[in-house]
Amino acid sequence: MLELRPNCECCDRNLPPESEQAMICTFECTFCTDCVDNILRGVCPNCGGDFARRPIRPARLLVKYPASTKRVLKAEGCAPVRAA
Ligand SMILES: [Zn+2]
Ligand SMILES: [Zn+2]
Repeated sequence: MLELRPNCECCDRNLPPESEQAMICTFECTFCTDCVDNILRGVCPNCGGDFARRPIRPARLLVKYPASTKRVLKAEGCAPVRAA
């Protein structure tokens, strides 16, 4: 089950479960569409994988399966993956 993390790891903006701005990689590194498009250029800085839009969990199911409240933020800031 998805964690539905509450924020962008890059700019720390809020990404509530109903947000259509949330993008995740296969490990659920979570970023907003602005950071994915403009800073990360579609590549996850943590694992090098690509992103998909995070599916919206229906509100009635959030009661039983609540979203994560644990904020994850990249302490060193966010930069695009550099080509080796
Ligand atoms: Zn962001
Ligand atoms: Zn990742």
